[in-house]
Amino acid sequence: MAYIKEPAKKLRVAGKYDVLVCGGGPAGIGAALSAARNGAKTLLVEQFGFLGGMGTGALVPTFAPSAMSGAPLIKGIHAEILALLGIGDGSNDTWPPIDPEKTKRAYDRLMEIAGVELLFFTRISGVIKTGKRIDCIITENKSGRQALNAKYFIDCTGDADIAALSGVHFKKGDRKGSMQPASNCFTVAGIDDEEFEAIRKTNNAHDLKLSDIMRSDEGKKILPEVSSGEYRFLLETKFEKGYWGFNFGHIFSIDGTDAKDLSIAAQKGRELANNFIAYARKKFPGFKNAYLVSVGQTIGIRETRIIEGEYTMTVADYLSRTKFHDSIAVYDYPVDMHQTDKSLKAFKKSHKAFTQDFLLSPGEYYSVPFRALVPKSIDNLLAAGRSISCDRQVQAATRVMPLCVATGEAAGLAASMAAKKGNSFRDTDTELLRERLTAQRARVD
Ligand SMILES: Cc1cc2nc3c(=O)[nH]c(=O)nc-3n(C[C@H](O)[C@H](O)[C@H](O)COP(=O)(O)OP(=O)(O)OC[C@H]3O[C@@H](n4cnc5c(N)ncnc54)[C@H](O)[C@@H]3O)c2cc1C
Repeated sequence: MAYIKEPAKKLRVAGKYDVLVCGGGPAGIGAALSAARNGAKTLLVEQFGFLGGMGTGALVPTFAPSAMSGAPLIKGIHAEILALLGIGDGSNDTWPPIDPEKTKRAYDRLMEIAGVELLFFTRISGVIKTGKRIDCIITENKSGRQALNAKYFIDCTGDADIAALSGVHFKKGDRKGSMQPASNCFTVAGIDDEEFEAIRKTNNAHDLKLSDIMRSDEGKKILPEVSSGEYRFLLETKFEKGYWGFNFGHIFSIDGTDAKDLSIAAQKGRELANNFIAYARKKFPGFKNAYLVSVGQTIGIRETRIIEGEYTMTVADYLSRTKFHDSIAVYDYPVDMHQTDKSLKAFKKSHKAFTQDFLLSPGEYYSVPFRALVPKSIDNLLAAGRSISCDRQVQAATRVMPLCVATGEAAGLAASMAAKKGNSFRDTDTELLRERLTAQRARVD
Protein backbone atom coordinates (compact mmCIF):
# COMPACT_ATOMS: atom_id res chain seq x y z
CA MET A 1 0.00 0.00 0.00
CA ALA A 2 1.36 3.44 -0.94
CA TYR A 3 1.08 6.40 1.42
CA ILE A 4 1.41 10.16 0.98
CA LYS A 5 1.80 12.77 3.71
CA GLU A 6 -0.90 15.43 3.86
CA PRO A 7 0.63 18.83 4.67
CA ALA A 8 -0.71 20.41 7.88
CA LYS A 9 -2.83 23.53 7.37
CA LYS A 10 -4.82 26.02 9.42
CA LEU A 11 -8.58 25.44 9.53
CA ARG A 12 -11.20 28.09 10.08
CA VAL A 13 -13.30 27.43 13.21
CA ALA A 14 -16.69 27.99 11.60
CA GLY A 15 -18.80 27.90 14.78
CA LYS A 16 -18.91 27.27 18.53
CA TYR A 17 -21.71 25.37 20.23
CA ASP A 18 -22.73 23.86 23.54
CA VAL A 19 -23.77 20.59 21.90
CA LEU A 20 -22.84 19.28 18.48
CA VAL A 21 -24.90 16.37 17.18
CA CYS A 22 -23.12 14.33 14.50
CA GLY A 23 -25.60 12.68 12.11
CA GLY A 24 -29.31 13.35 11.62
CA GLY A 25 -30.94 9.91 11.74
CA PRO A 26 -33.46 8.87 14.42
CA ALA A 27 -30.82 9.14 17.18
CA GLY A 28 -29.58 12.53 15.97
CA ILE A 29 -33.13 13.86 15.73
CA GLY A 30 -33.88 12.81 19.33
CA ALA A 31 -30.53 14.17 20.54
CA ALA A 32 -30.74 17.56 18.83
CA LEU A 33 -34.35 18.25 19.84
CA SER A 34 -33.71 17.23 23.43
CA ALA A 35 -30.51 19.31 23.73
CA ALA A 36 -31.98 22.45 22.14
CA ARG A 37 -35.25 22.27 24.06
CA ASN A 38 -33.23 22.14 27.26
CA GLY A 39 -31.42 25.37 26.49
CA ALA A 40 -28.24 24.21 24.74
CA LYS A 41 -26.96 26.03 21.67
CA THR A 42 -27.16 23.03 19.35
CA LEU A 43 -25.85 22.26 15.87
CA LEU A 44 -26.73 19.12 13.93
CA VAL A 45 -24.34 18.16 11.12
CA GLU A 46 -25.63 15.77 8.45
CA GLN A 47 -24.00 14.50 5.26
CA PHE A 48 -27.26 14.43 3.29
CA GLY A 49 -29.66 17.33 2.66
CA PHE A 50 -32.40 16.02 4.96
CA LEU A 51 -32.98 14.29 8.29
CA GLY A 52 -34.18 10.77 9.01
CA GLY A 53 -31.14 8.55 8.36
CA MET A 54 -32.07 5.03 7.32
CA GLY A 55 -35.80 5.86 7.41
CA THR A 56 -35.75 8.56 4.75
CA GLY A 57 -32.31 8.13 3.14
CA ALA A 58 -32.34 4.35 2.80
CA LEU A 59 -36.17 4.28 2.42
CA VAL A 60 -36.68 1.81 5.30
CA PRO A 61 -40.47 1.96 5.08
CA THR A 62 -41.66 1.55 8.69
CA PHE A 63 -40.87 2.46 12.24
CA ALA A 64 -40.69 -0.64 14.42
CA PRO A 65 -43.54 -0.83 16.92
CA SER A 66 -43.26 1.34 20.03
CA ALA A 67 -44.17 -1.87 21.89
CA MET A 68 -44.62 -5.43 20.64
CA SER A 69 -47.56 -5.83 23.00
CA GLY A 70 -49.66 -3.31 24.89
CA ALA A 71 -49.24 0.45 25.17
CA PRO A 72 -46.08 2.16 23.79
CA LEU A 73 -42.90 1.64 25.80
CA ILE A 74 -40.99 4.17 23.70
CA LYS A 75 -42.61 7.53 24.33
CA GLY A 76 -41.16 11.05 24.56
CA ILE A 77 -39.90 12.52 21.29
CA HIS A 78 -40.63 9.38 19.26
CA ALA A 79 -44.30 9.49 20.32
CA GLU A 80 -44.37 13.17 19.35
CA ILE A 81 -43.00 12.35 15.86
CA LEU A 82 -45.62 9.65 15.30
CA ALA A 83 -48.38 12.00 16.46
CA LEU A 84 -47.14 14.81 14.19
CA LEU A 85 -47.16 12.44 11.22
CA GLY A 86 -50.58 11.04 12.21
CA ILE A 87 -49.47 7.44 11.71
CA GLY A 88 -50.69 5.79 14.92
CA ASP A 89 -48.83 5.27 18.18
CA GLY A 90 -46.97 2.05 17.36
CA SER A 91 -48.67 0.13 20.17
CA ASN A 92 -49.43 -3.62 20.03
CA ASP A 93 -46.98 -4.60 17.26
CA THR A 94 -48.19 -1.97 14.79
CA TRP A 95 -45.57 -0.65 12.35
CA PRO A 96 -46.10 3.06 11.50
CA PRO A 97 -45.27 3.84 7.84
CA ILE A 98 -42.48 6.27 6.89
CA ASP A 99 -43.61 8.20 3.82
CA PRO A 100 -40.16 9.63 3.08
CA GLU A 101 -41.01 13.13 1.86
CA LYS A 102 -43.70 13.82 4.48
CA THR A 103 -41.36 12.59 7.18
CA LYS A 104 -38.40 14.70 6.05
CA ARG A 105 -40.58 17.81 6.12
CA ALA A 106 -41.93 17.00 9.59
CA TYR A 107 -38.36 16.69 10.91
CA ASP A 108 -37.44 20.08 9.39
CA ARG A 109 -40.36 21.68 11.19
CA LEU A 110 -39.52 20.11 14.55
CA MET A 111 -35.93 21.37 14.31
CA GLU A 112 -37.00 24.85 13.32
CA ILE A 113 -39.40 25.14 16.27
CA ALA A 114 -36.79 23.81 18.73
CA GLY A 115 -34.13 26.22 17.41
CA VAL A 116 -31.67 23.54 16.27
CA GLU A 117 -29.17 24.88 13.75
CA LEU A 118 -28.78 22.49 10.81
CA LEU A 119 -25.71 22.04 8.65
CA PHE A 120 -26.58 19.78 5.72
CA PHE A 121 -24.39 18.41 2.93
CA THR A 122 -21.52 18.22 5.41
CA ARG A 123 -19.44 15.17 6.12
CA ILE A 124 -17.48 14.81 9.34
CA SER A 125 -14.02 13.51 8.52
CA GLY A 126 -11.89 14.13 11.59
CA VAL A 127 -11.61 15.26 15.19
CA ILE A 128 -9.14 17.43 17.06
CA LYS A 129 -8.59 16.32 20.66
CA THR A 130 -6.76 17.50 23.74
CA GLY A 131 -6.20 14.54 26.04
CA LYS A 132 -9.56 12.89 26.72
CA ARG A 133 -11.64 15.74 25.28
CA ILE A 134 -12.70 16.48 21.72
CA ASP A 135 -12.21 20.18 20.92
CA CYS A 136 -13.48 20.23 17.34
CA ILE A 137 -14.76 18.05 14.58
CA ILE A 138 -13.39 18.55 11.08
CA THR A 139 -15.95 18.86 8.30
CA GLU A 140 -15.87 18.82 4.51
CA ASN A 141 -18.51 20.56 2.42
CA LYS A 142 -18.93 23.08 -0.39
CA SER A 143 -17.45 25.76 1.90
CA GLY A 144 -14.28 23.70 2.17
CA ARG A 145 -12.59 21.99 5.07
CA GLN A 146 -13.48 23.60 8.40
CA ALA A 147 -13.49 22.96 12.13
CA LEU A 148 -16.52 23.19 14.42
CA ASN A 149 -16.06 23.61 18.14
CA ALA A 150 -18.41 22.42 20.88
CA LYS A 151 -18.34 21.67 24.59
CA TYR A 152 -20.05 18.30 24.06
CA PHE A 153 -20.47 15.96 21.10
CA ILE A 154 -23.02 13.22 20.40
CA ASP A 155 -22.12 10.55 17.85
CA CYS A 156 -25.31 9.65 15.98
CA THR A 157 -23.64 8.58 12.74
CA GLY A 158 -24.90 5.00 13.09
CA ASP A 159 -21.37 3.81 12.27
CA ALA A 160 -19.78 5.42 15.36
CA ASP A 161 -17.59 7.49 13.01
CA ILE A 162 -16.79 10.12 15.63
CA ALA A 163 -15.97 7.57 18.32
CA ALA A 164 -13.71 5.69 15.89
CA LEU A 165 -11.99 8.92 14.81
CA SER A 166 -11.46 9.74 18.49
CA GLY A 167 -9.77 6.44 19.21
CA VAL A 168 -12.65 4.84 21.14
CA HIS A 169 -12.46 1.04 20.98
CA PHE A 170 -15.20 -0.68 19.04
CA LYS A 171 -16.12 -4.10 17.69
CA LYS A 172 -17.46 -4.88 14.25
CA GLY A 173 -19.24 -8.09 13.25
CA ASP A 174 -18.90 -11.66 14.46
CA ARG A 175 -15.65 -13.52 15.11
CA LYS A 176 -15.02 -13.63 11.36
CA GLY A 177 -15.93 -9.96 10.98
CA SER A 178 -19.20 -10.81 9.18
CA MET A 179 -22.07 -8.43 9.72
CA GLN A 180 -25.81 -8.57 9.11
CA PRO A 181 -26.60 -8.12 5.40
CA ALA A 182 -27.45 -4.77 3.85
CA SER A 183 -30.72 -4.06 1.97
CA ASN A 184 -31.54 -1.35 -0.51
CA CYS A 185 -35.19 -0.44 0.09
CA PHE A 186 -37.37 1.26 -2.55
CA THR A 187 -40.76 2.81 -3.20
CA VAL A 188 -43.33 1.75 -5.80
CA ALA A 189 -46.44 3.56 -7.07
CA GLY A 190 -49.33 2.57 -9.33
CA ILE A 191 -50.23 -0.51 -7.26
CA ASP A 192 -53.86 -1.67 -7.21
CA ASP A 193 -54.25 -1.71 -3.42
CA GLU A 194 -57.32 -3.93 -3.33
CA GLU A 195 -55.75 -6.67 -5.40
CA PHE A 196 -52.44 -6.51 -3.54
CA GLU A 197 -54.11 -6.34 -0.11
CA ALA A 198 -56.15 -9.43 -0.97
CA ILE A 199 -53.08 -11.54 -1.64
CA ARG A 200 -51.31 -10.11 1.41
CA LYS A 201 -54.19 -11.20 3.63
CA THR A 202 -53.70 -14.80 2.65
CA ASN A 203 -49.92 -14.55 2.23
CA ASN A 204 -48.58 -12.70 5.25
CA ALA A 205 -45.06 -11.49 4.48
CA HIS A 206 -43.87 -12.71 7.88
CA ASP A 207 -44.78 -16.20 6.68
CA LEU A 208 -42.69 -15.55 3.59
CA LYS A 209 -45.37 -16.69 1.17
CA LEU A 210 -44.75 -13.90 -1.31
CA SER A 211 -41.11 -14.91 -1.48
CA ASP A 212 -42.27 -18.50 -1.87
CA ILE A 213 -44.21 -17.46 -4.96
CA MET A 214 -41.00 -15.95 -6.29
CA ARG A 215 -39.16 -19.17 -5.62
CA SER A 216 -41.65 -21.23 -7.63
CA ASP A 217 -40.34 -22.74 -10.86
CA GLU A 218 -42.07 -20.09 -12.94
CA GLY A 219 -40.77 -17.36 -10.63
CA LYS A 220 -37.22 -18.58 -11.14
CA LYS A 221 -37.62 -18.28 -14.90
CA ILE A 222 -38.51 -14.60 -14.66
CA LEU A 223 -36.13 -13.81 -11.82
CA PRO A 224 -33.14 -16.15 -12.18
CA GLU A 225 -31.41 -14.84 -9.04
CA VAL A 226 -34.38 -15.95 -6.98
CA SER A 227 -32.85 -19.22 -5.85
CA SER A 228 -29.63 -17.51 -4.70
CA GLY A 229 -31.10 -16.60 -1.34
CA GLU A 230 -30.81 -12.86 -1.88
CA TYR A 231 -34.53 -12.58 -2.51
CA ARG A 232 -35.64 -14.33 0.63
CA PHE A 233 -36.74 -11.35 2.66
CA LEU A 234 -39.75 -9.14 1.85
CA LEU A 235 -41.69 -6.60 3.89
CA GLU A 236 -44.01 -4.02 2.38
CA THR A 237 -45.88 -1.00 3.75
CA LYS A 238 -48.56 1.19 2.28
CA PHE A 239 -48.02 4.98 2.44
CA GLU A 240 -51.10 6.12 0.55
CA LYS A 241 -53.30 5.07 -2.37
CA GLY A 242 -51.21 2.97 -4.75
CA TYR A 243 -47.93 4.10 -3.14
CA TRP A 244 -45.93 1.56 -1.12
CA GLY A 245 -42.49 1.08 0.40
CA PHE A 246 -40.56 -2.21 0.09
CA ASN A 247 -37.83 -3.63 2.27
CA PHE A 248 -36.76 -6.43 -0.01
CA GLY A 249 -33.82 -8.77 -0.37
CA HIS A 250 -30.41 -8.97 1.21
CA ILE A 251 -27.00 -7.91 -0.02
CA PHE A 252 -24.40 -10.07 1.73
CA SER A 253 -20.77 -9.49 2.75
CA ILE A 254 -21.00 -5.70 2.84
CA ASP A 255 -19.04 -3.63 5.35
CA GLY A 256 -20.96 -0.36 5.68
CA THR A 257 -17.76 1.46 6.67
CA ASP A 258 -15.98 0.50 3.43
CA ALA A 259 -16.63 2.79 0.45
CA LYS A 260 -15.86 0.06 -2.10
CA ASP A 261 -18.35 -2.32 -0.49
CA LEU A 262 -20.97 0.44 -0.41
CA SER A 263 -20.38 1.07 -4.13
CA ILE A 264 -20.98 -2.61 -4.90
CA ALA A 265 -24.09 -2.63 -2.69
CA ALA A 266 -25.53 0.44 -4.45
CA GLN A 267 -25.31 -1.27 -7.82
CA LYS A 268 -26.65 -4.58 -6.55
CA GLY A 269 -29.48 -2.83 -4.72
CA ARG A 270 -30.60 -0.97 -7.82
CA GLU A 271 -30.48 -4.19 -9.83
CA LEU A 272 -32.53 -5.98 -7.18
CA ALA A 273 -35.20 -3.27 -7.12
CA ASN A 274 -35.47 -3.11 -10.90
CA ASN A 275 -35.64 -6.90 -11.17
CA PHE A 276 -38.29 -7.00 -8.50
CA ILE A 277 -40.55 -4.55 -10.25
CA ALA A 278 -40.15 -6.32 -13.60
CA TYR A 279 -41.05 -9.57 -11.89
CA ALA A 280 -43.91 -8.20 -9.78
CA ARG A 281 -45.55 -6.62 -12.84
CA LYS A 282 -45.82 -10.05 -14.37
CA LYS A 283 -46.55 -12.12 -11.26
CA PHE A 284 -48.02 -10.16 -8.33
CA PRO A 285 -51.72 -9.29 -8.24
CA GLY A 286 -52.17 -5.51 -8.35
CA PHE A 287 -48.81 -4.75 -10.00
CA LYS A 288 -49.79 -4.56 -13.67
CA ASN A 289 -49.41 -0.76 -13.77
CA ALA A 290 -46.91 -0.44 -10.95
CA TYR A 291 -43.63 1.44 -11.40
CA LEU A 292 -40.49 2.03 -9.39
CA VAL A 293 -40.42 5.53 -7.90
CA SER A 294 -37.14 5.58 -6.03
CA VAL A 295 -34.40 3.37 -4.64
CA GLY A 296 -32.86 4.46 -1.32
CA GLN A 297 -30.17 7.05 -1.98
CA THR A 298 -28.06 5.32 0.61
CA ILE A 299 -27.69 1.63 1.42
CA GLY A 300 -29.66 0.16 4.32
CA ILE A 301 -26.97 -0.86 6.79
CA ARG A 302 -28.01 -2.90 9.83
CA GLU A 303 -24.73 -3.31 11.62
CA THR A 304 -21.22 -1.84 11.69
CA ARG A 305 -19.24 -0.50 14.65
CA ILE A 306 -20.47 -0.96 18.20
CA ILE A 307 -18.60 1.17 20.73
CA GLU A 308 -16.96 -0.05 23.90
CA GLY A 309 -18.85 1.85 26.55
CA GLU A 310 -18.74 2.12 30.31
CA TYR A 311 -21.26 -0.74 30.31
CA THR A 312 -21.88 -3.33 27.61
CA MET A 313 -25.43 -4.72 27.48
CA THR A 314 -25.27 -8.50 27.20
CA VAL A 315 -27.58 -11.25 26.03
CA ALA A 316 -27.80 -12.26 29.71
CA ASP A 317 -29.16 -8.77 30.49
CA TYR A 318 -31.66 -9.13 27.67
CA LEU A 319 -32.77 -12.60 28.77
CA SER A 320 -33.12 -11.62 32.44
CA ARG A 321 -34.85 -8.33 31.50
CA THR A 322 -32.35 -6.46 33.71
CA LYS A 323 -33.66 -3.17 35.06
CA PHE A 324 -30.60 -0.94 35.36
CA HIS A 325 -30.35 1.75 38.07
CA ASP A 326 -29.37 4.25 35.34
CA SER A 327 -31.97 3.07 32.81
CA ILE A 328 -32.83 5.77 30.28
CA ALA A 329 -35.23 3.75 28.08
CA VAL A 330 -37.22 0.50 28.13
CA TYR A 331 -38.28 -1.66 25.19
CA ASP A 332 -39.51 -5.09 24.14
CA TYR A 333 -38.40 -5.34 20.50
CA PRO A 334 -36.85 -8.81 20.07
CA VAL A 335 -33.49 -9.86 18.64
CA ASP A 336 -33.85 -9.24 14.90
CA MET A 337 -30.55 -10.65 13.64
CA HIS A 338 -30.57 -11.05 9.87
CA GLN A 339 -28.37 -13.95 8.79
CA THR A 340 -24.83 -13.31 7.58
CA ASP A 341 -24.98 -15.96 4.84
CA LYS A 342 -27.54 -16.86 2.18
CA SER A 343 -28.28 -20.44 3.17
CA LEU A 344 -31.88 -21.37 3.88
CA LYS A 345 -30.72 -22.90 7.18
CA ALA A 346 -29.23 -19.58 8.33
CA PHE A 347 -32.34 -17.74 7.23
CA LYS A 348 -34.63 -20.08 9.18
CA LYS A 349 -32.45 -19.75 12.29
CA SER A 350 -32.62 -15.96 12.27
CA HIS A 351 -36.34 -16.02 11.52
CA LYS A 352 -36.92 -18.35 14.47
CA ALA A 353 -34.83 -16.15 16.78
CA PHE A 354 -37.00 -13.16 15.89
CA THR A 355 -40.38 -14.90 16.02
CA GLN A 356 -39.78 -17.40 18.86
CA ASP A 357 -36.47 -17.70 20.71
CA PHE A 358 -36.04 -14.14 21.91
CA LEU A 359 -39.66 -13.06 22.02
CA LEU A 360 -40.67 -11.39 25.27
CA SER A 361 -44.01 -12.20 26.89
CA PRO A 362 -46.61 -9.44 27.04
CA GLY A 363 -45.68 -6.97 29.78
CA GLU A 364 -41.98 -7.91 29.77
CA TYR A 365 -39.27 -5.49 28.69
CA TYR A 366 -35.56 -4.76 29.01
CA SER A 367 -33.88 -1.48 29.87
CA VAL A 368 -30.94 0.49 28.46
CA PRO A 369 -28.38 1.89 30.92
CA PHE A 370 -27.00 5.39 30.35
CA ARG A 371 -23.48 3.89 30.71
CA ALA A 372 -23.97 2.08 27.35
CA LEU A 373 -23.93 5.54 25.71
CA VAL A 374 -20.71 6.64 27.42
CA PRO A 375 -17.61 5.60 25.46
CA LYS A 376 -14.57 4.63 27.46
CA SER A 377 -11.64 7.02 27.05
CA ILE A 378 -13.38 10.26 25.94
CA ASP A 379 -15.00 12.63 28.47
CA ASN A 380 -17.22 14.82 26.30
CA LEU A 381 -18.65 12.32 23.79
CA LEU A 382 -21.78 10.18 23.90
CA ALA A 383 -22.97 7.66 21.33
CA ALA A 384 -26.67 7.19 20.63
CA GLY A 385 -28.62 4.97 18.23
CA ARG A 386 -27.35 1.90 16.44
CA SER A 387 -23.80 1.93 17.86
CA ILE A 388 -24.39 1.96 21.64
CA SER A 389 -22.35 -0.47 23.71
CA CYS A 390 -23.87 -3.97 23.61
CA ASP A 391 -23.41 -7.55 22.39
CA ARG A 392 -24.13 -8.14 18.70
CA GLN A 393 -27.31 -10.03 19.51
CA VAL A 394 -28.56 -7.25 21.76
CA GLN A 395 -27.69 -4.69 19.06
CA ALA A 396 -30.01 -6.64 16.76
CA ALA A 397 -32.82 -5.56 19.14
CA THR A 398 -31.69 -2.06 20.11
CA ARG A 399 -30.91 -0.95 16.53
CA VAL A 400 -34.51 -0.16 15.54
CA MET A 401 -35.62 3.44 15.14
CA PRO A 402 -37.87 4.01 18.18
CA LEU A 403 -35.10 3.05 20.60
CA CYS A 404 -32.55 5.05 18.58
CA VAL A 405 -34.72 8.16 19.07
CA ALA A 406 -35.00 7.35 22.79
CA THR A 407 -31.23 6.93 23.33
CA GLY A 408 -30.74 10.15 21.35
CA GLU A 409 -33.26 11.94 23.56
CA ALA A 410 -31.39 10.84 26.69
CA ALA A 411 -28.02 11.82 25.22
CA GLY A 412 -29.27 15.27 24.18
CA LEU A 413 -30.64 15.97 27.64
CA ALA A 414 -27.46 14.70 29.34
CA ALA A 415 -25.39 16.96 27.06
CA SER A 416 -27.53 20.01 27.83
CA MET A 417 -27.12 19.30 31.56
CA ALA A 418 -23.36 18.90 31.16
CA ALA A 419 -23.12 22.14 29.16
CA LYS A 420 -24.34 23.97 32.30
CA LYS A 421 -22.10 22.11 34.78
CA GLY A 422 -19.02 21.33 32.71
CA ASN A 423 -18.83 17.70 33.89
CA SER A 424 -17.51 14.61 32.15
CA PHE A 425 -20.33 12.36 30.92
CA ARG A 426 -19.00 9.72 33.30
CA ASP A 427 -20.12 11.97 36.17
CA THR A 428 -23.66 12.51 34.88
CA ASP A 429 -26.25 12.66 37.65
CA THR A 430 -28.31 9.79 36.24
CA GLU A 431 -31.05 10.11 38.87
CA LEU A 432 -31.64 13.70 37.76
CA LEU A 433 -31.37 12.66 34.10
CA ARG A 434 -34.06 10.00 34.63
CA GLU A 435 -36.31 12.45 36.46
CA ARG A 436 -35.99 15.00 33.69
CA LEU A 437 -36.53 12.40 30.96
CA THR A 438 -39.71 11.34 32.71
CA ALA A 439 -40.76 14.99 32.91
CA GLN A 440 -40.39 15.25 29.12
CA ARG A 441 -42.63 12.17 28.80
CA ALA A 442 -39.95 9.59 28.00
CA ARG A 443 -40.33 6.25 29.73
CA VAL A 444 -37.31 5.07 31.76
CA ASP A 445 -38.74 2.24 33.96
C1 LIG B 1 -32.88 -2.58 5.60
C2 LIG B 1 -33.18 -2.11 6.99
C3 LIG B 1 -34.46 -2.30 7.49
C4 LIG B 1 -34.77 -1.84 8.75
N1 LIG B 1 -36.06 -1.97 9.19
C5 LIG B 1 -36.42 -1.27 10.28
C6 LIG B 1 -37.79 -1.15 10.61
O1 LIG B 1 -38.66 -1.72 9.94
N2 LIG B 1 -38.13 -0.39 11.68
C7 LIG B 1 -37.18 0.22 12.46
O2 LIG B 1 -37.54 0.93 13.41
N3 LIG B 1 -35.86 0.10 12.18
C8 LIG B 1 -35.47 -0.61 11.11
N4 LIG B 1 -34.15 -0.70 10.78
C9 LIG B 1 -33.13 -0.18 11.70
C10 LIG B 1 -33.01 1.33 11.69
O3 LIG B 1 -33.43 1.88 10.47
C11 LIG B 1 -31.58 1.82 11.97
O4 LIG B 1 -30.87 0.97 12.81
C12 LIG B 1 -31.68 3.22 12.57
O5 LIG B 1 -32.11 4.13 11.57
C13 LIG B 1 -30.38 3.68 13.17
O6 LIG B 1 -30.55 5.01 13.58
P1 LIG B 1 -29.29 5.93 13.84
O7 LIG B 1 -29.80 7.29 14.06
O8 LIG B 1 -28.41 5.28 14.84
O9 LIG B 1 -28.47 5.85 12.45
P2 LIG B 1 -28.90 6.17 10.97
O10 LIG B 1 -30.33 6.00 10.74
O11 LIG B 1 -27.96 5.36 10.13
O12 LIG B 1 -28.55 7.70 10.81
C14 LIG B 1 -27.21 8.15 10.80
C15 LIG B 1 -27.16 9.52 10.14
O13 LIG B 1 -25.84 10.04 10.23
C16 LIG B 1 -25.40 10.52 8.98
N5 LIG B 1 -23.95 10.32 8.93
C17 LIG B 1 -23.29 9.15 9.01
N6 LIG B 1 -21.97 9.36 8.97
C18 LIG B 1 -21.79 10.69 8.86
C19 LIG B 1 -20.63 11.51 8.78
N7 LIG B 1 -19.40 11.00 8.84
N8 LIG B 1 -20.81 12.85 8.65
C20 LIG B 1 -22.06 13.38 8.60
N9 LIG B 1 -23.20 12.63 8.68
C21 LIG B 1 -23.05 11.32 8.82
C22 LIG B 1 -26.15 9.65 7.98
O14 LIG B 1 -26.26 10.30 6.72
C23 LIG B 1 -27.49 9.47 8.67
O15 LIG B 1 -28.40 10.47 8.35
C24 LIG B 1 -33.80 -1.19 9.54
C25 LIG B 1 -32.50 -1.02 9.04
C26 LIG B 1 -32.20 -1.47 7.76
C27 LIG B 1 -30.83 -1.22 7.24
